Amino acid sequence: MHKFNRETLSEVKELLNKVNGNIVITTHYNPDGDALGSALALGRYLEKAGKQVSIIIPNDFPDFLKWMPGQENAIIYFHHANKANELLEKAEVIFCLDYNAVHRVNYFGKQLFEAGGVKILIDHHIQPEPDFDYMFSVIETSSTSELVYDFICGMGDSDLIDTEISISLYVGIMTDTGSFNYGCNYPHTFEVVAELIRRGIDVEQIHRLVYDTYSEKRMRLLGFCLSERMTVLEEYATAYIWLSEEDMQKFDFKPGDSEGIVNYALSIKGVSFAAFFTEKPDRIRISFRSKGDFSVNTFARLHFEGGGHRNASGGDSFMSLTETLEKFTALLPQYAEELNLSASKSAVLTMK
Ligand code: 5GP
Ligand code: MN
Repeated sequence: MHKFNRETLSEVKELLNKVNGNIVITTHYNPDGDALGSALALGRYLEKAGKQVSIIIPNDFPDFLKWMPGQENAIIYFHHANKANELLEKAEVIFCLDYNAVHRVNYFGKQLFEAGGVKILIDHHIQPEPDFDYMFSVIETSSTSELVYDFICGMGDSDLIDTEISISLYVGIMTDTGSFNYGCNYPHTFEVVAELIRRGIDVEQIHRLVYDTYSEKRMRLLGFCLSERMTVLEEYATAYIWLSEEDMQKFDFKPGDSEGIVNYALSIKGVSFAAFFTEKPDRIRISFRSKGDFSVNTFARLHFEGGGHRNASGGDSFMSLTETLEKFTALLPQYAEELNLSASKSAVLTMK
C-alpha cells in the first residue's frame, strides 16, 4: 500500500514525534460524516499517541452524527470563536481534513491562513490548493476517513486503531460512498472495512444509527420534494429539485434534513445529472450529482463557484432562486449530447 509519498510520511512522523504542544484538527464547513468521522478518528489516535489534541469544526453537524464517539468534545467555531482562535494561534500542528482549500472552513479561513502551525492536509478532493505544508491528497479513494486509516498505518501505529476509532472511520467511509454506492471501486476500501470489522465495529448498528433517524417532518419533506418540487427533463437526462426558505420553514428544517435528497433524483432511470437547490439567507446552495462520465465538478466550477468530485459536487449562486433555476436550465442544451451519452452508458453492463 503506497498511497502516500514515503518522504512526506517520514517527515511528518518525525515532526509529530517532536511535537509537545497543541495539535488542532480542522474540517470543512457543514461537516458531514466523513469530515467528522476522519477528525474524531485522527483526534483519538493522536491522543492515544500521547498528544494534546483539539478538534475545531466550523459549524454544527447533523443530529444523525450526534452519537459518534468523542463528538461532544469537538469545538464548534460558530459558538466558541474565541477559544478556537486561541487554539489555532498557538497550535504547533494543524491537520486539515476533508477539504482542499483553506477557505472551505468558512468562518475561520483567515485565522487558519494566518496561523503559524505546520499545516498537514489529508484529503480526497481534486485539485488541492497549495495552502498546506504537507499534503496527503489522494483522489482515487473512498473518503478522507480511509486516508486517515492509511495515515495511522503509515505512522506505524495500526495497533492504536481501537473500536472507537474504527467506528468513526467506518461512518466516514459509509457516508461518503452513499453506503458503498459510489466512489468505492477500490479493493483497498473493502480491505480497510474488513480491518475495521475485525476491530469490533457493528456495521448493521452503525447503518441504523446514521440512516434510520428521520424525524417525521424530515420524511415528509422528502416526500414533498419528490412530489412537488422535482422537475425531470428527459431530453437532457436531468432531474432537479428545489426548496425555498418558506418550504423549509414549513417542514421545520434542521441541518442535515436535505442530506441525500439529491440522490433520489439521480436514481431515476435515464437520468445522469441531478441538482438540488436550497434557498439560504445569503445564497442559493446547490448540490450536484451525476452518473458516469459527466463531470459535475467541472460544471460546478464553471458555472456555480463550486467544485468537488466528478460525480458529486456543490456550488453557490448569488441570484434569486428563480434566476438560478433559469440559469441552470439554460445551460443544459450545450451539455445535451454529453448528458445523454452518460445516461445511456450508465444503463448497460460494461466490463473492464
Ligand atoms: P454536497 O452536495 O454533499 O454538499 O457536496 C458534494 C461534494 O462536493 C462534497 O464532497 C463536497 O466536499 C464537495 N463540495 C460541495 N460544495 C463545494 C464547493 O463549494 N466547492 C468545492 N470545491 N467543493 C464542494
Ligand atoms: Mn469526504
